[in-house]
Amino acid sequence: MQNARYPESYYAATANPAPERPALEGEKSFDICIVGAGYSGLVTGLFLAEKGYKVAVLESEKVGWGASGRNGGQLINGYSRGFDDIKKAWGEDTANAIIAMSFDGADILRDKVKTYDIKCDLKSTGSFFAAYTPAQMKDLEHEKAVWERFGHTALEIVGPEGMAEIVDSKVYCGGMLDRWGGHMHPLNLALGEAAAIEKLGGTIFENSRVTSVDYDKDKPEVHTARGKITADFVVICGNGYLDKTVPALRGKVMPVSSQIITTEILGEERCKALMPPDFCIEDCNYILDYYRVTADHRLLFGGGIVYGGETSADIESSLRKRMVKVFPELEKTKIDYAWSGTMAFTFRRMPHIGRLSPSVYFVQGYSGHGVTPTHLVGKLLAEAVAGQSAGFDVFASLKHYPFPGGRMFRVPLTVMGAWFYALREKLGL
Ligand SMILES: Cc1cc2nc3c(=O)[nH]c(=O)nc-3n(C[C@H](O)[C@H](O)[C@H](O)COP(=O)(O)OP(=O)(O)OC[C@H]3O[C@@H](n4cnc5c(N)ncnc54)[C@H](O)[C@@H]3O)c2cc1C
Repeated sequence: MQNARYPESYYAATANPAPERPALEGEKSFDICIVGAGYSGLVTGLFLAEKGYKVAVLESEKVGWGASGRNGGQLINGYSRGFDDIKKAWGEDTANAIIAMSFDGADILRDKVKTYDIKCDLKSTGSFFAAYTPAQMKDLEHEKAVWERFGHTALEIVGPEGMAEIVDSKVYCGGMLDRWGGHMHPLNLALGEAAAIEKLGGTIFENSRVTSVDYDKDKPEVHTARGKITADFVVICGNGYLDKTVPALRGKVMPVSSQIITTEILGEERCKALMPPDFCIEDCNYILDYYRVTADHRLLFGGGIVYGGETSADIESSLRKRMVKVFPELEKTKIDYAWSGTMAFTFRRMPHIGRLSPSVYFVQGYSGHGVTPTHLVGKLLAEAVAGQSAGFDVFASLKHYPFPGGRMFRVPLTVMGAWFYALREKLGL
């Protein structure tokens, strides 16, 4: 069998050395079996390995091959939805409990990087939400007040006069700085977390796609083409790439892809001129752009989404247009890398977390914003497996609905919804 390779990307080209890991062969037994070696699976596995459990991770391709090894590297607090949306959907108590955990994910990520000395270019400079319209500024001011109510002490609203110090672009009217944000090399973070699991005695199998999870048995069984693991607990973290593996999880999420380009090396001086304080930046549009400077001084620019999870035909030219709108001077700049990745969206844009049986847990559907939430959820899943489930129970209480239109019409209906929100933004509503 041929070993999986990372798709071409800036991250694959600059990945730290990692071992070739074996595929699962034959029957084995572990305390914990995790499906998927993205951040959700790795962080859950790492917390459980720290607690002394014998952990196995089964990865269809390679560690960090999915969204976790391809994302924008933006370390942003909170979730895809804010307090008001969560309150509207699930009530004030639930919103309070969930927003109270908003800043834990970033702390967990930084703590794991420090504890295991993970070399992933982590910068704790800050993250910046850039507004195009006064309506978006108003939303940011509201969000700032909410986050401050939950203990955030390092947020600043920046008006039009302060924007030149943040980013060399004329398109924004202001924004909000979160000094508790930052950015990092996402694939090297995943590789470092995998190495930490192994250091604690865990085992990671690559090239080992799970074909089914048998959760009706006393002890759940996880099957691959060439082997089987029996475990006390199974945690399913396949997210946007899980596809048909667990039919019970399929209807609640829709695969959605996003794209990224990376310029040629621009040099330190030019990058400093583009983004003096080296924050990661995302705009406030419904279909947003996000960008940052890499450790070797390139601009890494992501944006646009494709509902259904297809890869768009010409990533470079569609993203170049978006990048040049923000930075016209980069029109002729060479693009060295272009790639896309798939994530899972839920209808309400909050992660879908729960149990399929008393010993089989799952998480999926961070809906575009998963770097810090995966680190929070990994901790909560590990706590739930170990018998302390307060935080897990709050997320598991969120009732999720299938996308309207079923698998056949969910994509066109969601595209229509996105047009509606984009139109509202154009009208400044
Ligand atoms: C292009 C892009 C840019 C993004 N940018 C950001 C950003 O800047 N900031 C942010 O907060 N979020 C961002 N996200 C979202 C974030 O990357 C994800 O929410 C997060 O990485 C999800 O982690 P995960 O472990 O749940 O899923 P994944 O990282 O996708 O991991 C799932 C893993 O499971 C494996 N798998 C699936 N099915 C099986 C199976 N049957 N058997 C075995 N293994 C299986 C897959 O191969 C994969 O490796 C971005 C996503 C994309 C695609």
